[in-house]
Amino acid sequence: MTDVGEIPEDHPRYQSLLTRHRIEDGVERGVTSKQGLIAEGRGEAFDYLLGEETIPSADDAERVAAAQLLLAEHAVLSVNGNVAALVPNEIVALAEVTGADIEVNLFNRTDERMGAIVDHLREHGAEEVKGLDADARIPGLEHERGKVDEDGIYVADVVLVPLEDGDRAEALAAMGKTEIVIDLNPLSRSPRTAAIPIVDNIVRAVPNVTAHARELADAPRAELEAIVAEFDREEALRDAERAIRDI
Ligand code: ATP
Repeated sequence: MTDVGEIPEDHPRYQSLLTRHRIEDGVERGVTSKQGLIAEGRGEAFDYLLGEETIPSADDAERVAAAQLLLAEHAVLSVNGNVAALVPNEIVALAEVTGADIEVNLFNRTDERMGAIVDHLREHGAEEVKGLDADARIPGLEHERGKVDEDGIYVADVVLVPLEDGDRAEALAAMGKTEIVIDLNPLSRSPRTAAIPIVDNIVRAVPNVTAHARELADAPRAELEAIVAEFDREEALRDAERAIRDI
């Protein structure tokens, strides 16, 4: 494995190499699956095309996501192996600022990996991590992939699902949840299903949602509701696609 200390900070692709290193490390610790490496590769390609920066429409969507999380009765941040490897501290910070729960939810669920991710998040400051009870099911998904916590994702009104696969994103939307999806591919089914699609790298998106949430923390409910109501999800997706095509 590349030693992170070997990557010079002035390397033009420093951030991208650092991200890759975190995923490699996640695989070695049993936090990230091998399929997670493929997802990372796909993400890198789209990030390259986006210029490896948060485009203005993504920043807008991140502000809307912050408002939506602050408005939620019961928000849950869903964490998979890539999310845990890339942004453990940042997810804990976002949960603190918005009052959301954290739940581990895996496409390829194994007890070992569930345990490794819960421990990893706790090492990064998470107090309560849901996902181990798995006492409820998302309707329409086969047994293992539909498992969630009754008092977590199952009852949540707002769910942040970064890097989610299309089937599960659709099944959660069919349950009537307001979904916030972070995904670098604007053509993927998950952002296309989301009420709030954020086309940005998770390493930039999560801290930026937190920064917006801090800034909006004392805003009146009516102002938060107006921010959410004015959001145009179709335009956000179109804008990301345009940014990719116009490079
Ligand atoms: P769908 O069924 O929705 O089409 P998919 O098959 O594209 O989903 P996967 O390959 O399982 O889904 O998931 C990987 C997705 O996550 C890709 O769309 C990829 O662009 C995105 N992705 C990978 N790394 C990141 C990252 N660091 N930040 C944001 N998105 C990422």
